[in-house]
Amino acid sequence: MLYKDEQKSHNCPQCGDLLNIYFKYAKLIKCNSCGSAIFLEDDAVKLIGQSAVLSPEPSLIQLHKPFKFQNKRFTPLGKIRYSYGRGFWEEWFLKDDKNQEFWLSIDEGDFVLEEKIKFSLPFKKNHTFKVGQNFNEYQVTEIGTGVCVGFEGELPEVIKLDESHTYVHLSRGHGELLTLELSDNETMTFKGQWIDPLEIKV
Ligand SMILES: [Zn+2]
Repeated sequence: MLYKDEQKSHNCPQCGDLLNIYFKYAKLIKCNSCGSAIFLEDDAVKLIGQSAVLSPEPSLIQLHKPFKFQNKRFTPLGKIRYSYGRGFWEEWFLKDDKNQEFWLSIDEGDFVLEEKIKFSLPFKKNHTFKVGQNFNEYQVTEIGTGVCVGFEGELPEVIKLDESHTYVHLSRGHGELLTLELSDNETMTFKGQWIDPLEIKV
């Protein structure tokens, strides 16, 4: 059964509907009734804008529908959509049964499962990466930019809509991956792997 955080019950400051909060540490949630983006801070809720209605896509992954991957169960609690002009990719925020947080990025048929790590790499936002560059055993394999166009569900961090977002993939060996997310104030590092969507059991 899906655990719901009963401790944290809030109403939407815009339409008054009850917000269903599944993740104790959620910082951002979208109201299911009116689409408002709401910032959750301790006991306060604050309206920060309207999240675009994301056109539904046929997807293997659905909000609040647990799935299994390699005998582990993950529950999707939120997703962010980024546009890169001709198309978009999505980042799903997942929780496993031990309440650990994961991110599943789906870009067309490419699935990457990662965890945020407290591992600081010595790069600043203005660092120039080039595909093919080597850093120890890692090689830069992809650099991309997208604009955050909306989100669904709840998220552990606040995102800024319409803001451009740069990521760098560094690969090692067979499918091992580090992803750097570069922003003005910090560089976040995620570690994980490419996964085969056929191994996802819903
Ligand atoms: Zn609302």
